[in-house]
Amino acid sequence: MELDLQPLNLPGIDMKRPVVIAGPCSAETEEQVMRTACDLAARGIRIFRAGVWKPRTKPGGFEGKGSEALPWLKRVKEETGMLVTTEVATAKHVEECLAAGIDILWIGARTSANPFAVQEIADTLKGTDIPVLVKNPVNPDLELWIGALERLNGAGLRRLAAIHRGFSSYEKKLYRNQPQWQIPIELRRRVPELPLICDPSHIGGKRELIAPLSQQAMDLGFDGLIIESHCTPDAAWSDAAQQITPDVLEYILDLLVVRDMSQGTESLSQLRKEIDECDNALIETLSKRMRVSREIGEFKKEHNMTILQRERYDEIIAKRCAQGMQCGMGTDFMRKIFEAIHEESVNQQMEVLNK
Ligand code: PEP
Ligand code: MN
Repeated sequence: MELDLQPLNLPGIDMKRPVVIAGPCSAETEEQVMRTACDLAARGIRIFRAGVWKPRTKPGGFEGKGSEALPWLKRVKEETGMLVTTEVATAKHVEECLAAGIDILWIGARTSANPFAVQEIADTLKGTDIPVLVKNPVNPDLELWIGALERLNGAGLRRLAAIHRGFSSYEKKLYRNQPQWQIPIELRRRVPELPLICDPSHIGGKRELIAPLSQQAMDLGFDGLIIESHCTPDAAWSDAAQQITPDVLEYILDLLVVRDMSQGTESLSQLRKEIDECDNALIETLSKRMRVSREIGEFKKEHNMTILQRERYDEIIAKRCAQGMQCGMGTDFMRKIFEAIHEESVNQQMEVLNK
């Protein structure tokens, strides 16, 4: 199914890259919400986020103030002129947000992984035209992410955008949620007109990672950023380690380099020609390698040998990885390339053997 989309078309927001959405992980008190919002507005932020209902992995954590916090967001709107957005996970959340005049809704990662919940939200939104931002599901499943967008689109919502917030993994490494950039990149390829917003706060899980992740998102052509910002981050009731003050946010945004997405300068087209030549040479070399491989297949057939010669394979992979590294390429990359080449070689030899 193709998505039938319209530009987000947010009043007063110039959709030049990047659109910035900022605010605390959670609305904690009216005072915290107002202080943070006024400081952000004074620094030019036009869209305010704050979680009212907080989905928590385990019970017992702060689960949000709930409906009580909605009038605070209304106050932010009235007193700062910012648009406001919060997370919805149920029909009841949606109804309350619509009644409170929330401008934009987002669907969290735990909810977008659940088709029943997404459908319930979509059904409740039928007949409205509110922008909805859909976070990627916690698991790296592009189809599930697109499915959530399709459910909303099927209910007539056309002002949609996707938020990339990284993917859970059992092993915790540098990031709280693995970025797996290839997934949002593939989403862009599949649905080019869908705006992509990056959430470096939830990907990184720590303050220091917000600047480099935001820059990476800009370099990959993302349209916007959603960043958690709190007037006193260390005292935050949720996600304290990843929140930054409005002051630090402004500093990070000032340093962002937003590259020109347009193509076609002289030097760029020259460089692209060189890339085309490299690719042609690669294809020729690969085809020559396959020819030799088929000859080896003939030899193995005549001498009744098996196709897979384990030691030879291990030796090729180890040597090529080392050679590649000396030429400035990662071992993982070299391994992937040579495993793929080897697989095709085996397929070609099987054909020879079965002739
Ligand atoms: C959030 O934005 O505060 C949040 C709960 O995010 P996610 O759904 O990405 O975990
Ligand atoms: Mn959060």
